[in-house]
Amino acid sequence: MSNGISGKVIVITGASSGLGECTARHLSALGAILILGARRTERLQTLVTELEKQGGKAIAVATDVTRKEQVEALIKTAVEKFGRVDVLLNNAGLMQQSRLDSLKTDEWDNMIDVNLKGTLYGIAAVLPYMQAQKSGHIINVSSVAGHKVTPAGSVYCATKHAVRAISEGLRSEVKEWNLRTTIISPGAVATELTDHITEKEIGQGMRDFYKQHAVGPDSFARIVEFALSQPAEVDINEILYRPTSQE
Ligand code: NDP
Repeated sequence: MSNGISGKVIVITGASSGLGECTARHLSALGAILILGARRTERLQTLVTELEKQGGKAIAVATDVTRKEQVEALIKTAVEKFGRVDVLLNNAGLMQQSRLDSLKTDEWDNMIDVNLKGTLYGIAAVLPYMQAQKSGHIINVSSVAGHKVTPAGSVYCATKHAVRAISEGLRSEVKEWNLRTTIISPGAVATELTDHITEKEIGQGMRDFYKQHAVGPDSFARIVEFALSQPAEVDINEILYRPTSQE
């Protein structure tokens, strides 16, 4: 019996670490064909080699999601090599927490460019193909930060609220093409996400919090599997989850 994943052509952005990397391993073991995008191509290539050794099928495509044409090329590669694109996991993201009065406007730009515009570029690149196929599934990664706003988290939270707003809008617009859309909103998951916070104290506070509470990225991969493996007529709209100990 089909697991709903074997043979599917699945594009993952931000596949070079954390949630994307773990999900690539998980879906490859379930038989997915993977097109993996990120900027750190060496890491992507190492992952592809590992997956191939285990009998998987994957390719790496250098992709900066802030560059519209690179996101288009990522999706185009999937279609050219494998004839279609079944799933986009719009996962690339960046968290640089700071208080607004620190005026870290470059970091605000970074987060808006990667988390918000990057997600939109993914949708823009994949939607015409999925509409033509009359099938497809777009999974956008939001966060607990897409449900509440924390001190020093204003801009990150704003981008993740926006991801949910866009996903909900998308969901309501793609009925006639049979497309599914899912938002996954994780709590603290142990990845490299907290490494990019430049405010020393805030960064340390986040890392301490993560040390205490964070769960493994396999939690996320299992949720992606759950959403993808539903029958075609069932669309998992959103999953919000946290480590059991996280407030
Ligand atoms: P990581 O920092 O481990 O991974 C982030 C990924 O995003 C990397 O693969 C990175 O690849 C990629 N990325 C960053 N900037 C760009 C860019 N400009 N172009 C392409 N890829 C980019 O963190 P996570 O795995 O935790 O993050 C994945 C997603 O999960 C993010 O959207 C994050 O906001 C979200 N999330 C994470 C939570 C957590 O607690 N870990 C909780 C809630 C949501 P590279 O640098 O090679 O380009």
